[in-house]
Amino acid sequence: MFFCRAMSQIAENIQKIRERISSAATASGRNQDDIKLVAVSKIKPAALVREAFVAGQRAFGENYAQELRDKAEELADLGIEWHFIGHLQKNKAKYVAPVAKLVETVDSTELADALNRRAEKPIDCLIEINVGGELSKSGTDEGNFIEVARHIEALPNLNLRGLMTIPPYDMDPEKSRPHFRKLRELLAKMNEELKPDAPYAELSMGMSHDFEVAIEEGATIVRVGTAIFGER
Ligand SMILES: *Cc1c(COP(=O)(O)O)cnc(C)c1O
Repeated sequence: MFFCRAMSQIAENIQKIRERISSAATASGRNQDDIKLVAVSKIKPAALVREAFVAGQRAFGENYAQELRDKAEELADLGIEWHFIGHLQKNKAKYVAPVAKLVETVDSTELADALNRRAEKPIDCLIEINVGGELSKSGTDEGNFIEVARHIEALPNLNLRGLMTIPPYDMDPEKSRPHFRKLRELLAKMNEELKPDAPYAELSMGMSHDFEVAIEEGATIVRVGTAIFGER
């Protein structure tokens, strides 16, 4: 007789999320390989990030500059793909630029300049758009994101990849749908106006409570925290 070692709770959660991503992709005629799961580990200890990595998770999202710097150092042996997903102040770009693969929350030309200056190698980035127009949220508005995009295109150390948003929170995921759809339209608009050699393709949208709706609306990156690591 032999015993299977029980799967860790985090490994089990990740597997469940991957299954849900796969179902949502299939239901909307998409390939699950075109959707990247970012495990949002803010406030959670590095040991849990390591546990998720052992379970096969490779991309992690952090919201606070110094916390990202510290975790990246502590977990440097793993080769994690770090995404910065929080509001970033210019003077903290120095903590993020050396370790982030993707900065998802560029929302001004000044922040783009700071990241460009601090980059040790090219950094991918997304422009964060405040689709809901909420005063309490960061992000550029629809009126000037094209200008921010043009600015980023001229910076040697930043590679623009697409757009990111956090819609107004509502328990009902259907309430997020129009905002996700809006972000997809804005990505199309950006491609029409800027005519890049290769179209900008990334849409980072969807969290624990609404990532399936986001996938139906074209998300290529979903950011899931609570459903993997538990309540914060
Ligand atoms: C915290 C956070 C998430 C994850 O939210 P959950 O509801 O815990 O899945 C995703 N994106 C951003 C920008 C966040 O700040």
